[in-house]
Amino acid sequence: MCMICVDFQKQKMTTNDARRALREMREGMDDDHVKEVTEMIQKVEKEQQSKKSSDDDQD
Ligand SMILES: [Zn+2]
Repeated sequence: MCMICVDFQKQKMTTNDARRALREMREGMDDDHVKEVTEMIQKVEKEQQSKKSSDDDQD
């Protein structure tokens, strides 16, 4: 568990925020955990894409 997991699971972070935080923090993180966080973000992104919300500012 890292700060990204905690904030993301509390929905304090959007997928974009989580990706940015991961880019900044990944060097200090365990490789396995970087992979876990990436998959966690991707899973939520897929769910959001299938819902087609109005939130449409992906970078
Ligand atoms: Zn974590």
